[in-house]
Amino acid sequence: MEHKPRVLVVGAGIVGLCCAWYLARAGADITLVDRDGPGEGTSSGNAGAISAGSVAPLAMPGVLKQVPGMLLDPKGALHIPARYWPAAFPWLWRFVLEARPERVAEIAQALAVLLHGAEERHLEILKAEGALDLIAHNGQLYLYRDAQHLAKDDASWALRREHGMETRVLDRAGILELEPEVSAAYTVGLFAPRQGHSLNPLRQARVIARGVERMGGRVLRGNVSALMTQDHRVTGAMVDGAPVAADHVVLAAGAWSAKLLAPLGIRVPLESQRGYHIMLPHPGVMPRRPLVPADRKAFITPMEEGLRIAGTVEFGGTEAPPNAARAALLLEDLAKVYPQADIRDAKPHWMGHRPCLPDSLPVVGPVREWPGLWCAFGHGHLGLTGSGPAGAVVAAAMLGPTPNADLSPFGVERFA
Ligand SMILES: Cc1cc2nc3c(=O)[nH]c(=O)nc-3n(C[C@H](O)[C@H](O)[C@H](O)COP(=O)(O)OP(=O)(O)OC[C@H]3O[C@@H](n4cnc5c(N)ncnc54)[C@H](O)[C@@H]3O)c2cc1C
Repeated sequence: MEHKPRVLVVGAGIVGLCCAWYLARAGADITLVDRDGPGEGTSSGNAGAISAGSVAPLAMPGVLKQVPGMLLDPKGALHIPARYWPAAFPWLWRFVLEARPERVAEIAQALAVLLHGAEERHLEILKAEGALDLIAHNGQLYLYRDAQHLAKDDASWALRREHGMETRVLDRAGILELEPEVSAAYTVGLFAPRQGHSLNPLRQARVIARGVERMGGRVLRGNVSALMTQDHRVTGAMVDGAPVAADHVVLAAGAWSAKLLAPLGIRVPLESQRGYHIMLPHPGVMPRRPLVPADRKAFITPMEEGLRIAGTVEFGGTEAPPNAARAALLLEDLAKVYPQADIRDAKPHWMGHRPCLPDSLPVVGPVREWPGLWCAFGHGHLGLTGSGPAGAVVAAAMLGPTPNADLSPFGVERFA
């Protein structure tokens, strides 16, 4: 019998899970390892939006003017506590440099190629696992106070439209037709009818983990302390102090990935953008689709277990405790859209770590200098969306057939 390639996937967040699923389907012998259960970290708590059309990077031209506000406004969409300024500065500097118009165009093009068909990839996995009910296809609705407020986002919507995203601008009557209970504070809407959402990101992760096992893969709990190397090749990883050998290792450890690369001499400017959510099991109002009040761009998403208000961006690293004041802002965002919402049984706030690179592009594909090593991390604000396509492309690049997508914009080498 032909030798099945042994692939060790480090990290069972949604990205590692989708890589493991597509690799198992392509015939690999999979070991997936995580110190926690599948999808229990950042991937459990996101806003659920599957936004294949979101190709505009976070650093758009003109971002430099916004940085002082970001640093000084504790209630702004992005907050950096003063103690973290020195650590955040080099990342922010690179972020600002990525906002050149020609670079923004390149990034959007690369994201458009990677994210093309993102929802189809999720549906492909969930159909095979008998869980198509996890995805809803009712679009997403962005809410603006007035036309001037919408105009601030013109450049980023234009870029998305250029890459094929369908959008419709709505007046107040148009908003009410879709979502009759939205407050009068919002008079202009932007409806993106072709974007979908997950009704339960944690259940989705668990379904995929079961799929990996169904195809013969092993899903293990364990802490990975180091990647193993021999003759300048990556040959496995140390899991709870014991070697686990593999022909290929896929590093999908989210915001923790850079730590495992550093001993190989690979430096990656990966930062956690900490985000929060609050769940309301019985809010008394329920939209049909994610609503995004554009003030701070929080998502208000209808899910199986209630209404989830998710968002805010905070720098502060992976070790500092959550900041209740940031989470509380989410209830302010909700109150602007639904003043009537019942928040009495709100669950305690949740925090997760978006793995973010300054150019808003993930690192996906083989590492040229280290045969045997593959990366799949850094999807930032779009990790649920990008996980399906990233998994499909990694499996195809490793085991064939050769993918159509050009992986060079996503190489870890771009930071050398
Ligand atoms: C508030 C919020 C809202 C969001 N909304 C959306 C959205 O609507 N749509 C969207 O597309 N994206 C969204 N995102 C982003 C998305 O959730 C993330 O990009 C995605 O979950 C990252 O997945 P991941 O698998 O790369 O990382 P993770 O989910 O963090 O998984 C990495 C895993 O690696 C494990 N790990 C790390 N180091 C080790 C080690 N040394 N040994 C063993 N295991 C290790 C961790 O335990 C973890 O389980 C949101 C994020 C947040 C925080």
